[in-house]
Amino acid sequence: MSAAGNPTRTPVFRLLTIASSGIGSFILGLWGLKFGFGDGLAAMQTGTMIAIIAALCALASAGAALSFFAGVDESADYVFKETHFDKLTGLLARPAMVGRIADAASATMKTGEPVFLIDIDIDRFKQINDAIGYSQGDELIGVFTSRLKDSLPEGAVIGRIGAGEFAVLITDREIEGSLESAVEKLIDQMMEPYQLSSHLQSVSLSVGIVAMPKDGVDPVLILRRSNLALQNARASGVGNWSVFHSDMGQVADYRQWIESELHTAFDRGDFDLHYQPQLDLSSGRIVGYEALIRWRHPERGMIAPMEFIPIAEETGMIGPIGEWVLRKACSDARHLPEDCFVAVNISPVQFMTKDFVGIVRDTMASTGIKPSRLELEVTETAMMQDRDRAATILRQLAEMGISVAVDDFGTGYSNLSYLIDFSFGKLKIDRSFVSRIDTDSSSGAVVSTIVGLSRALGVSIIAEGVETETQATLLRAAGCEVVQGFLYGRPAPLELGGALAVHGIRERRVANLH
Ligand code: C2E
Ligand code: MG
Ligand code: MG
Repeated sequence: MSAAGNPTRTPVFRLLTIASSGIGSFILGLWGLKFGFGDGLAAMQTGTMIAIIAALCALASAGAALSFFAGVDESADYVFKETHFDKLTGLLARPAMVGRIADAASATMKTGEPVFLIDIDIDRFKQINDAIGYSQGDELIGVFTSRLKDSLPEGAVIGRIGAGEFAVLITDREIEGSLESAVEKLIDQMMEPYQLSSHLQSVSLSVGIVAMPKDGVDPVLILRRSNLALQNARASGVGNWSVFHSDMGQVADYRQWIESELHTAFDRGDFDLHYQPQLDLSSGRIVGYEALIRWRHPERGMIAPMEFIPIAEETGMIGPIGEWVLRKACSDARHLPEDCFVAVNISPVQFMTKDFVGIVRDTMASTGIKPSRLELEVTETAMMQDRDRAATILRQLAEMGISVAVDDFGTGYSNLSYLIDFSFGKLKIDRSFVSRIDTDSSSGAVVSTIVGLSRALGVSIIAEGVETETQATLLRAAGCEVVQGFLYGRPAPLELGGALAVHGIRERRVANLH
């Protein structure tokens, strides 16, 4: 549905219409009487004359009033369209969606048939919008909406309830097969890249689901709960979905607390970096260290990166935090052995910021780190958001002599064609494959395939999360020589003596390996 236009009759116009028709009919009445009765007018009784004029005026006012009420209708229609429908997509706007949830709630209470509210959010839409510009952002929302409509059954009610957030009301009857398979299919379809006029845009989604009447019938509560489920899905990774359950409220409070604390923590200097060694099995030599952020809160103690990094990404705090990590890791590098590099994790949001390459260049200049000693770990998600831009950034980094490792490789996208377009130096096999390599033959096959792929592409390979000697042996057999994991050393601080502790690992491992 197209967005509503302004009413053609403004209030001033309407008042003028009524006033002018009143005055006009009075003059016309006088003239008509004079013309019709001629000299007889003088003989007419004043009462009859007033009655005739009054009747004419009433007729004109009735006409004007009709026009006025038509205008009121038009205004009501305009206001309805303005508040009911989202201008950009023509979908129901948030207040209208609340009304539809209320209708669905009263229907489900009568019939007992479950109704689901599915809350679909484009992850980090604000950052995508900032990166690609608002008109491309609008275009993305437009094509997303069309695909969403095509992917849902006719009877589903769809609303746009936030910038990149959509709500779908759907009855149990309308869902083909199980809810789980329907939602997974929907997520897969909606996460296929979108062709915009300037580039191919990938998005990741988080989805929260609430069932009525089971999870409540109050529309505001239902929306809050679907959002809690959504936040829960987002915390557990890319393209995930969650069904609401009652203890999600506490999780939400915790998230809110983290959000409010991040800024203070950054200013107070709560953050630190720990370093985990990366080892070359054939030589027993430590080749590099991965910098991993640590947040020690004065009251709550250690808070894991997976708990606060996604929130920092959503709130934009990842900008200053990420820059701080990069600067600190580059300046810490001087305490590490000359032949070791430092690997820094770069969030997708950071990677796509306008001047990411400039920030890296400035940091290198101010810390004096050699490009060969810096490695950036970037996930597939980061590269897939806007392939063309990612390819340019990767090329610029390669030209500067900085190596990029694809972190958590194998967990993101199944389409590997992007690997050919991108300049990167290393694939980092995700821990999930390594941890199952000794128990699950398909993980072994995946690892061998990734190693083969790295050779075909001419890039290096490393496996992360190695915890047992068996895993290390199998990795080596598969052709992966460089490893990182608790077996060789946990992330440790690089404080007074800390560097030695990390180096100590080197000495110990070298001793163990030979
Ligand atoms: P990642 O980059 O994949 O880092 C590896 C994670 O696996 C680290 O968790 C590390 O402590 C853990 N790990 C290493 N070896 C083993 C092992 O043998 N077994 C097990 N179970 N775990 C192992 P950590 O430090 O909690 O970091 C988690 C994630 O948070 C990182 O995953 C990375 O995505 C993110 N992260 C950490 N530091 C930063 C940072 O400075 N900036 C950004 N943007 N993200 C960061
Ligand atoms: Mg990493
Ligand atoms: Mg990783």
